Amino acid sequence: MKLTVLDRCPLCHGKRIVRFKKGTVDPQALGSADFKITDSHYGSRWTFDSCRDCGFVFANPVPDGEAIAGFYSALADEEYSQEDEGRGRNFTLILERLGRLVPPSSSLLDVGAASGIFLNLARGAGYRGTGIEPSAALAADARRLYGLELFRGTAEQFVAEEKFGVVTLLDVLEHVTDPNALLATLGSFLLPGGVLVIVTPDVSSLAARVMGGRWWHYRVAHINFFNRRSLERLLAAHDFEIVQVRRFAWHFSLHYLLTRLLPFLKGKPLQKSLKKLHLKLQLFDSLEVYARKKEK
Ligand SMILES: [Zn+2]
Repeated sequence: MKLTVLDRCPLCHGKRIVRFKKGTVDPQALGSADFKITDSHYGSRWTFDSCRDCGFVFANPVPDGEAIAGFYSALADEEYSQEDEGRGRNFTLILERLGRLVPPSSSLLDVGAASGIFLNLARGAGYRGTGIEPSAALAADARRLYGLELFRGTAEQFVAEEKFGVVTLLDVLEHVTDPNALLATLGSFLLPGGVLVIVTPDVSSLAARVMGGRWWHYRVAHINFFNRRSLERLLAAHDFEIVQVRRFAWHFSLHYLLTRLLPFLKGKPLQKSLKKLHLKLQLFDSLEVYARKKEK
């Protein structure tokens, strides 16, 4: 894999960058399986730098975007749909908040749609939904589970036939090598006044600071991290006006949490009952942002 050493911040181009966390993985030894959404190897991470001017945290050297896209294209994640119920609860709350900002019949583009859980719920709520997903296996799950035909590829490869009233980027931004390029692309997909929804981990959250290198968002698939300040900066640079910023608490089953915190429990007989127990993880260590594309 090609790696590029950056001498300035890729977000604000400031030169005051410092080492944030030393990496624990060998980039040349990575394969598709390391990019699973349900990966439990927490603490595996790239070498990160942070920018003193804007607060952005980014892998440096930065991996090649095409190599990363290739990993996602070949990715299979058998465990992902096991947590559909918990994810569905999270997504229903997002749809409720979105419904206060746009008409429910709006056209909606979900970028990084995975197995289509959010898109399926959005369609149920009345949105005209389209999804983009690079993984062939997850796109096949979306077809099998919900009858959804997703566009197979990245946002950059997608050719929009119409502009959208809503674009959603739910736990996707932290996976891309060039957030500026992605935001420029997404901006071009939106109608003036259209709404962009972003959910992404908050590297300045209390949980991130307390857990340090063991924070559960440190994993190979995450190659950049925002905080409120850097995310606001990214959105402003791409002509978005922030409507609402919230802290996001994920719903998980007890089974999911335990097997991720204590990987040796995997495959033990307790599982069925634990999967039924849902709880809200009150870490509030993700940001949930609603922003409107400025009318020109
Ligand atoms: Zn910066």
